Amino acid sequence: MKITEILSQEKPVLSFEVFPPKKESAYETVEQAAVEIARLSPSFMSVTYGAGGGTSQYTADLAACLAKKYGVTSMAHLTCVSSTREHVRGVVERLRENGIENILALRGDLPSDGHVEKDYSHASDLAAELAAMEDFCIGGACYPEGHPESKNKAEDIRYLKEKVDAGCSFLTTQMFFDNNIYYNFLYRVREKGITVPIIPGIMPITRASQVKTACTLAGTNMPERFRNLVDCFGDNPKAMQQAGIAYATDQIIDLIANGIHNIHVYSMNKPEVAAGIQKNLSEIIHD
Ligand code: FAD
Repeated sequence: MKITEILSQEKPVLSFEVFPPKKESAYETVEQAAVEIARLSPSFMSVTYGAGGGTSQYTADLAACLAKKYGVTSMAHLTCVSSTREHVRGVVERLRENGIENILALRGDLPSDGHVEKDYSHASDLAAELAAMEDFCIGGACYPEGHPESKNKAEDIRYLKEKVDAGCSFLTTQMFFDNNIYYNFLYRVREKGITVPIIPGIMPITRASQVKTACTLAGTNMPERFRNLVDCFGDNPKAMQQAGIAYATDQIIDLIANGIHNIHVYSMNKPEVAAGIQKNLSEIIHD
């Protein structure tokens, strides 16, 4: 099923994300975690794409496994800046052969050695190419706090509009820990004529070490309320997991109470985290 069809239904959407292994030897463990999450019957699952595209085969394999064996609609992420057009076309063909209808079109991070291929500069180039094929539902990424490389939020939103016009029919946000950031962003993008669904991406932080990665890589701000929680429970793994799930649940409930019914959870191959959130929402999100 195409994700736009899922988003257009009246019922709330709860989707989960998994990431593929870096090495073949880890494939089975990752598949097992993904399958446990699939058994929770999420609205859809997305499978990320390894930086640089070297492990693209595992993204396609995992997305196909979730769809074929467990009947879960899946979406494959695809990055382009480090790939040739030929490589991208090969990945797309593999996705098509496996019946994957949904692709999150991404530029990908710029490699630290600065080496990029010349075929694509921005995610909008990839979105336009995929849109011309007509058989995929294409999503894109967006950044409520601004993409780390952009000069300012206004410029970022201008380019975001180009990406949507190129063919993205929905957007998923970078993680954020203060819902007001999302609400402000939504106001600004709607004002600029971006009308597609904007799915909030919620990251349950269940280990103190994840905080640093979120702040440095994604440029995400940590509200004081969240920092207090990490200060208090960061040294106690079980307490931190419980607190992280509770914080993410609280964010989701606030979003739903404010009329946002499509939620994507960065469940990071952790079935216990996905299950914890789903259980907390059992009376709020159900068929
Ligand atoms: P773009 O939309 O191309 O934007 C990148 C920057 O270029 C922005 O600053 C934008 O303002 C600017 N820009 C856009 N168009 C133009 C233009 N025409 N001229 C000048 N500047 C322009 N990474 C992975 O490696 N694998 C994944 O699976 C993955 N999944 C992700 C999922 C989500 C929901 C998000 C939010 C991010 C994900 N990422 C993933 C990270 C992503 O690849 C990086 O954030 C990357 O740096 C930007 O990708 P993009 O698709 O947003 O790029």
